[in-house]
Amino acid sequence: MEKLKSGAEQLGLHLTPRQLELFDIYYQELTDWNRRLNLTRITDYAAVQVKHFLDSLTVVLGADFEKNGPRVIDVGTGAGLPAVPVKILFPDINLVLLEATAKKADFLHHLAGRLGLEGVEIVVGRAEEAAHDARYRETFGVVLSRAVASLPALVELTLPFVTVGGRLIAQKKGEVGTEVAQSSKAINVLGGRLREIKTVLIDELKDRRCLVIIDKVKVTPPEYPRRPGIPVKRPLR
Ligand code: SAH
Repeated sequence: MEKLKSGAEQLGLHLTPRQLELFDIYYQELTDWNRRLNLTRITDYAAVQVKHFLDSLTVVLGADFEKNGPRVIDVGTGAGLPAVPVKILFPDINLVLLEATAKKADFLHHLAGRLGLEGVEIVVGRAEEAAHDARYRETFGVVLSRAVASLPALVELTLPFVTVGGRLIAQKKGEVGTEVAQSSKAINVLGGRLREIKTVLIDELKDRRCLVIIDKVKVTPPEYPRRPGIPVKRPLR
């Protein structure tokens, strides 16, 4: 986990030997389960350290995970990215992993057990439905999401989970200007306000990665998100 360790230093994160050991277990479980279940195309030891684990940890540039151990949800977490790496670094966060595919959720249960994670709830379901459940709606100070949908749709899938005063951190790659411009209506309707597009400047991650940070400033109208599939099919424009 040398690459992860040195990369994380650039984020001001100093990983302990125990944390590095947990990332090693994560790597082994991910690649083991990946033989039966399509979790990731990236399986090379060095690449997983950088493109999955280190990339996940860059969300610390967008929020303070130390302060009060905030309640965090990862929408469309897949194999646990980005939230499980964050949880390894900040064990006090109260975490919900939301994933639509039951088999991926099976992996997450297994992984949480292997890593001995506490304060993690794994929810199988779609964001369009979970966001209407009072247990989850507007109850999170920080919402994370990586590689789930284009920004106009993603905003509808994620902002309903954020408490007023909290924020969404969406990880994006490449040119985001157009996507962000096309999201202005969705951001406004869902009760958000664009705070910042933060470029990730890490030696190992030089492929134009950024965090789109959106503050929640108003309550989301109850009709959002719309029915499953609609936010992606007919994004608010
Ligand atoms: N965040 C992970 C996985 C990205 S793949 C990573 O960066 O590696 C997108 C994942 O989101 C898939 O596992 C898919 O099942 C899930 N997903 C897509 N739409 C969803 C929705 N509406 N609600 C919940 N999960 C969703």
